[in-house]
Amino acid sequence: MSARIDWSQGPVPCVDCGRPMRPSHVRRAEWPGTLTCHGHGRCSSCAAKLRRAEAQEPEVPATPTRYVWESAIPAASSIPQAHWVTEAQGAVARALRERRLVLTARPDITLVHGRTPRIRCVCPVRPMTDTEAAALARRGLGTGDPA
Ligand SMILES: [Zn+2]
Repeated sequence: MSARIDWSQGPVPCVDCGRPMRPSHVRRAEWPGTLTCHGHGRCSSCAAKLRRAEAQEPEVPATPTRYVWESAIPAASSIPQAHWVTEAQGAVARALRERRLVLTARPDITLVHGRTPRIRCVCPVRPMTDTEAAALARRGLGTGDPA
């Protein structure tokens, strides 16, 4: 993949923190409020962070994974949908803990209407570290056994 950046439209956001950047040959006064690009589309602090991260063994696999949770909800019910969504989130949190997974972003929640209405949560996840499992356990949120 090419790492070239097109500066013709002006400042370009850092790929990690999103702050506006300028090419190294442009002075700060020329493009006010920008940071110098330090390569690979990153500002200096993000480039340094990446170098530090690469220097260390990753604690958990970097491969993003997905966990899909789905459950039927009563078709004719006086319980408002907002309540089912919240119940589902609680159930998803428990299911993730039992599998020693943590969310890396908000789950994508879909209500599937029809004869058998369902609620579906697509969760971006990664494996939980032992430290995270211990932190949850201290709050009374038990996890499953280590894989
Ligand atoms: Zn940055």
